[in-house]
Amino acid sequence: MSVRTRVAPSPTGTPHLGTAYIALFNKAYAEQQGGDFILRIEDSDAARSSKQSETDILDALKWLDLSWDEGPDIGGSYGPYRISERLRIYEAHANELIQSGGAFRCFCSQERLDDLRREQQRRSETPKYDGHCLALSASEIQRRMDAGESHVVRLRVPETGDCTFTDQIRGEISIPWQQIDMQVLVKSDGFPTYHLCATVDDHLMGITHILRGEEWISSCPKHVLIYDYFGWQFQELFHLPLLRNTDQSKMSKRKNPTGINYYRDRGYLPEALLNYLATMGWSMPDEREQFSYAQFTENLDLIRISPRGPVFDIEKLDWLNGCYIRDLSNDEFQTRVVSWAGNSERVEKIVSMLQERTERFDQVLPQVEYLLGDRKPIDKEDLAHTSLSEEDVLKILDFATRTLESASTWRSDEIGVALRQTAEICGYKVRDFVAPLFVALSGRKVALPLFDSIEVLGLELTRARFRSAIEILGGISNKKLKKLDKEWTTLTQT
Ligand code: GLU
Repeated sequence: MSVRTRVAPSPTGTPHLGTAYIALFNKAYAEQQGGDFILRIEDSDAARSSKQSETDILDALKWLDLSWDEGPDIGGSYGPYRISERLRIYEAHANELIQSGGAFRCFCSQERLDDLRREQQRRSETPKYDGHCLALSASEIQRRMDAGESHVVRLRVPETGDCTFTDQIRGEISIPWQQIDMQVLVKSDGFPTYHLCATVDDHLMGITHILRGEEWISSCPKHVLIYDYFGWQFQELFHLPLLRNTDQSKMSKRKNPTGINYYRDRGYLPEALLNYLATMGWSMPDEREQFSYAQFTENLDLIRISPRGPVFDIEKLDWLNGCYIRDLSNDEFQTRVVSWAGNSERVEKIVSMLQERTERFDQVLPQVEYLLGDRKPIDKEDLAHTSLSEEDVLKILDFATRTLESASTWRSDEIGVALRQTAEICGYKVRDFVAPLFVALSGRKVALPLFDSIEVLGLELTRARFRSAIEILGGISNKKLKKLDKEWTTLTQT
């Protein structure tokens, strides 16, 4: 049987380094085995998914040269490759599961489920569905359906015993069924959830090896069960370790840039980034740290992946990127720097801000330095402001980041509207609110217009600079973060 692997990102945000990491191992393994690598878009969360995010993910993977053999943009014999275009397939499978007794209709109200959860929490139990609707008779179910009662479809989970499956990297894993919730497979609006879609698609698309992040291990029992109910053969499973920050915590955008575009925009070479990702949990048999994608593909041995969380250390990546840069010929170096700096959209935008502020050409570079290069180092005093306390400045940097993260378009006028609105709901004068943002972004008190600069730099670089300013002020403790979360929710919900 020919090997088929897949990466299945959800298009719900900016392209994530984790997606590139998973895609790299899946692609390399398929290629090594003469198989196919599939890109599938898991847009099961319709409210959070967007076309823009999908395009950005595809572009980011292409920038890394992680191309696919089948996918939503190029088609293939197992399509369509977007969940949203396969709804009929899931519906048919959900019905089959209901008929065979592997799933059941649940009419419980939100109120009952909330009470149940509270009661379980009170008893310090893990909240989960109690199987109430399993007791409904066929005629009762029919009557309630005929009456048009809203309901979901849930997976039937055994009450006793363990689910045992093999992860090829970790060995045998056993999880008591008691810990597994009767997962909703189809929501009350008729939309399927990830667990139903992913299992059905992996089977129908002929996937033979599933390589994905370790955060999915706990979902395996649900998947094993669905496969059993259908009588399908389960794939070989490999759960790759989660990438970690240097302090060993799970890599998150609050501590480390996790967006692929951050690395592109700072001028990392895609081949160096791929090389570095290939060393996450895996090493060349001869321990050499610099190697090409072709060498990786040739030497990859999945069994040698270590489950211990690899640290994604930017200093190490800088070192490796430097090795790649020094290996370029002068001509290649020139071409690549120019194509990086001369990204036409960016240049056009910069030129439009710059021209009216320029009297001589030698004023150009100093003005755009922070847009093309690193920000000048700043310290606490630079971020100080006469009418804002340090607490205010931290809050402004954090709330501005949240505002930008939820921006639906990335245009300076809309960025301006959104940030002004945040200033207003938080009770700050716009002039005060933008002052620390200005310094955090440009390292100066006077710079090109703020909102245009944010547009040019993009979300990832902007976020990284705001975060670095937060760190300069001593960071935000978990306790403070929780307080800010609460305040943000209250402010944005009213
Ligand atoms: N859509 C899931 C994600 O974005 C994929 C999980 C899987 O590979 O099964 O992580």
